[in-house]
Amino acid sequence: YHADTHSISYTTLSRFPPVILLPPTQRKRILVTGGAGFVGSHLVDRLMLLGHEVTVIDNFFTGSKTTVSHWVGHPNFELVRHDVVEPFMIECDQIYHLACPASPPHYQFNAVKTIKTSFMGTLNMLGLAKRTKARFLISSTSEVYGDPEVHPQPEDYWGHVNPIGPRACYDEGKRVAETLAYGFHRQDGVDIRVARIFNTYGPRMNPFDGRVVSNFIVQALRGEDMTVYGDGTQTRSFQYIHDLIDGLIALMNSDETRPVNIGNGDEFTIGQFAELVRDIVEKVQKEDGDLPKRKVQIAYKPMPTDDPQKRRPDTTRAKEVLDWEPKWTVRMGLEEMVRYYKAKIVEGSM
Ligand code: NAD
Ligand code: UDP
Repeated sequence: YHADTHSISYTTLSRFPPVILLPPTQRKRILVTGGAGFVGSHLVDRLMLLGHEVTVIDNFFTGSKTTVSHWVGHPNFELVRHDVVEPFMIECDQIYHLACPASPPHYQFNAVKTIKTSFMGTLNMLGLAKRTKARFLISSTSEVYGDPEVHPQPEDYWGHVNPIGPRACYDEGKRVAETLAYGFHRQDGVDIRVARIFNTYGPRMNPFDGRVVSNFIVQALRGEDMTVYGDGTQTRSFQYIHDLIDGLIALMNSDETRPVNIGNGDEFTIGQFAELVRDIVEKVQKEDGDLPKRKVQIAYKPMPTDDPQKRRPDTTRAKEVLDWEPKWTVRMGLEEMVRYYKAKIVEGSM
């Protein structure tokens, strides 16, 4: 059964961004778990615009109803409060399984719940995929490589993870989630896709979730010290959200069942990255005629336990099998995000 978009009045549909009217044979029923989060809400936007029927399930632990509220009431969209630790019944063609807190302060807030979300949540969603024969994509992470001894990280590197450290609830949770996916694939023929996502940033990222991009931009916009953990020589490679969404949709619709890294190869030390963010914030403020009261300073804070020293994706596989590569430079993406947070501060919602 497909909701019949054609029978909805023009007045009702004109409240929403214009979506493609796909014929029922091409319109897919897509479940997005964690669809009210940062990545999920951008994925939902793209799938809706492409004309599919999208159901979001989310327990709103780190996500928010407002990220997808612009679709509520659309005949192709449904938002359900549900915790993936419990089974969920629906008929669907594709499942993007994203539900899991992603920032270190959030996933360490309740480590046991994070492991349950990764293990039981993935088990439940794979069970659903098995019954419905839906194609299943899991949002895994570069954290499966831990503090890597191989640089950059290709998909065949097995990783270097401390199984009992504070990050283990997330890293080992994702590793076991991948193991479960391959178990269901080999035993039950579930059609799986595994995306190993590297650090991603963009609008709608919770400004207070403690990740480095949001912290630095918010601090610089407020004229506060930018907090660099450790001596700032650890590296990360940052990709803009629209590139990630292109990669996830390309992977879902490809034939590739091996894990695929999705990330941007532009690598920065965290110290360099702080300076880049400070420059971009200053540039945007100058363009808008906002003269900062003083130059933002860098404050050095203790290094968190088990913080990976280096991280950069080897994206050869994504290029070869998906013909995907990132299009957004870090400078372009940061400028967009600075403007987004600045507008939020001006309107008083942040
Ligand atoms: P996020 O915290 O913004 O979104 C996660 C969403 O999942 C939230 O809406 C949250 O409420 C929901 N959720 C959490 N636990 C749940 C549960 N038990 N039941 C139902 N919903 C639950 O994080 P994000 O950055 O959007 O990350 C989305 C996915 O991508 C995660 O699986 C994350 O591990 C993965 N990922 C993200 C990044 C990144 O840089 N953003 C990097 C690697 C992997
Ligand atoms: N980091 C930092 N200052 C901050 C937040 C994070 O220096 O205010 C560092 C953190 O120690 C890590 C890097 O930035 O080395 C990326 O941290 P984030 O939490 O964004 O992601 P992850 O560690 O999961 O890659």
